[in-house]
Amino acid sequence: MTANDYQQPGRKIRSILIVGGGSAGWMTAAALSQTLSKGCTITLIESEEIGTVGVGEATIPTIKLFNQVLGLDENDFVRATQGSFKLGIQFVSWGKANHRYFHPFGSYGRPFDTVAVHQHWLAARANNDINLDDLCMAWAAASRGKFALPSTDPRNVLSTHDYAYHFDAGLYAGYLRKYSEARGVLRHEGKVAFVQQNGESGFVESVTMEDGRICAADLFIDCSGFRGLLIEGTLKTGYDDWTHWLPCDRALAVPCASSSDFTPYTRSTARAAGWQWRIPLQHRTGNGYVYSSAHISDDEAAATLLANLDGKALGDPRPLRFVTGRRRKSWNKNVIAVGLSSGFMEPLESTSLHLIQANISKILAFFPDRDFDPLVTDEFNRVATHETERIRDFLIMHYHLNVRDEPLWRQCANMDIPGSLQFKIDHFRKCGRLIAREMDLFGPASWTAVHIGQFNFPKRPDPLIDFRNVNGTEYLEKLRGAMRAAAETLPTHQAYIDRNCKAN
Ligand SMILES: Cc1cc2nc3c(=O)[nH]c(=O)nc-3n(C[C@H](O)[C@H](O)[C@H](O)COP(=O)(O)OP(=O)(O)OC[C@H]3O[C@@H](n4cnc5c(N)ncnc54)[C@H](O)[C@@H]3O)c2cc1C
Repeated sequence: MTANDYQQPGRKIRSILIVGGGSAGWMTAAALSQTLSKGCTITLIESEEIGTVGVGEATIPTIKLFNQVLGLDENDFVRATQGSFKLGIQFVSWGKANHRYFHPFGSYGRPFDTVAVHQHWLAARANNDINLDDLCMAWAAASRGKFALPSTDPRNVLSTHDYAYHFDAGLYAGYLRKYSEARGVLRHEGKVAFVQQNGESGFVESVTMEDGRICAADLFIDCSGFRGLLIEGTLKTGYDDWTHWLPCDRALAVPCASSSDFTPYTRSTARAAGWQWRIPLQHRTGNGYVYSSAHISDDEAAATLLANLDGKALGDPRPLRFVTGRRRKSWNKNVIAVGLSSGFMEPLESTSLHLIQANISKILAFFPDRDFDPLVTDEFNRVATHETERIRDFLIMHYHLNVRDEPLWRQCANMDIPGSLQFKIDHFRKCGRLIAREMDLFGPASWTAVHIGQFNFPKRPDPLIDFRNVNGTEYLEKLRGAMRAAAETLPTHQAYIDRNCKAN
C-alpha cells in the first residue's frame, strides 16, 4: 500500500443531513459540529408543526461526559434548562406494596476489603438492623435532601457518590441548538415530504421538503422520532418488538406545581398497571404514568396520575404511545438512526438520552467515508445491539422480581426472561455474585440495588467471606456513621442550586 492509497481524497464525507430536531437531533448536531470543525457541512431539518416528544427529563451520570466533551459549563447548563440534580432513583412499591429502595449513583460505601461491601452486609444481616441503602453516600445525602458535587479526594467518603441531572428536555434541545448554530450548523424549518434513493444501491441521496427545497447529503442521520422516517419509512429496516418482556406501551405525562419536597432524586412508584415517575425541576415537577394498555384504560390511568400529584396539575395529561423494542439495525446503508428512531425502552432507568449519546459516540468512533464499508457498519450495529440488550435485561429485572398481586405484575413474575438475565439472577441468588457482560451500562451498585431491593436474596454470601478476618457489623456501622456525618455537612439541594445555578 502506498501513501496515496491512505489519502483517498475523493471519498471523504462532505455533507451530513440530520432529519429531526428533538433531543436526538440537537445532541447529534452539537457533537458533530464540535468535532467536524472543517470540511463538512451539517444541516438539520425540523418541523415545528410536527413538534417533539418533549419528555426526557431524567438522566444518568454518563450525560456529564457528553456535556464535558462539548465544553458546556455545568452551572450555565443547569440554569438554562431549569435543571436539578439526581443522586439516583427511589423505587416505591416495586418488589411489593409500600416497600422502598434506592438505586444509587456511585458505590456502596468505600470498599474496605477484597470482598464487596454488599457481601459483608449479607453476612452480617442477621446481627444488625443496617439497611443496605444507608451504606451509600448517594442515599445518605438524598434522604436528607442534600446535594454537593463529589469530592475529588478518593480518601473522602464524599467521593463515593455520583450524580446526573433532571432538566427540561425542550430547553436542553434549544440550548444545544444555539451551540450548534454558533458552530455552523444550518437549520431548515419545515416538513420532509419525499425521500430519494439511488435506484441501484438504495442509498438515500436527498430529501425533498414540502415547500420543494431539496437537501442532498452523503450521510443521513435519522432523528425523526418514533416514525423513523428514513431508517424505517424509506429503508424498511425492521423492528424487534420487546413488549412481551416490557409490557408497558403508553404513557401520560403532566407537569405540576413544585412542592416543598425538592428531592435530589427521581421517584418511581409502581402502580397496578405500570408505574409513575416524579421528577423535580426548578420551575415545576414532571410526572407521568407509564402503563400497559392491556391492563388499564386511558381514563383510569389519567385519574390515577392526577390523584397522585404533589402539586396542582399545570395542564392536561399528554398521551404518548410506544412499542418497546429496537430497530434491527441502527445503521443501514448511509442512514444512521439516533434517538427514538433507533428504538425505545421505557424511561424506567432514564436510558434514552444515554443511548442517543452512545450512538453519537459510535458515529465518531466508526466515522465512515463514502464507501460505507460493511466492516464498519456491522461493527457499529453489533456494539449497538449489545448496549441495548444489556439495558433491556436490567429493565426486565425490575418487572420480573416482584411479589405484587395485580395481573400485570403476576404476568411479569411468571414470564420467561432472556437467558442472559436469568444467568445473572441465578448467580446472584446463589451467593450474591454479580456477573458482568460486555457493554453492561449499569455497574455493580445498580444491579445490587435492584436484586436486593426486589428480594432476590442470595442463599448465602460469597464463600470467600468465610476466610476474611473482618468484623462486618463493626465496619458497616462505621461506614454508615461516616456517611451520615458527611451528609449532614452538605448544603440542601435547594441551597446548592440557589448558590450556583438558579434559573432566572
Ligand atoms: C413517556 C416517555 C418518557 C421519557 N422519559 C425520559 C427520561 O426521563 N429520560 C430519558 O433519557 N429519556 C426519556 N424519554 C425518551 C426521550 O424523550 C427521547 O429519547 C428524546 O426526547 C429523543 O427524542 P427524539 O429526538 O428521538 O424524537 P422527537 O422528540 O420525537 O423528535 C423528532 C424530531 O423529528 C422531526 N420530524 C419528524 N418527522 C419529520 C418530517 N417529516 N419532517 C421534518 N421533521 C420531522 C420533529 O419535528 C422533531 O423535531 C422518554 C420518552 C417517553 C415516550
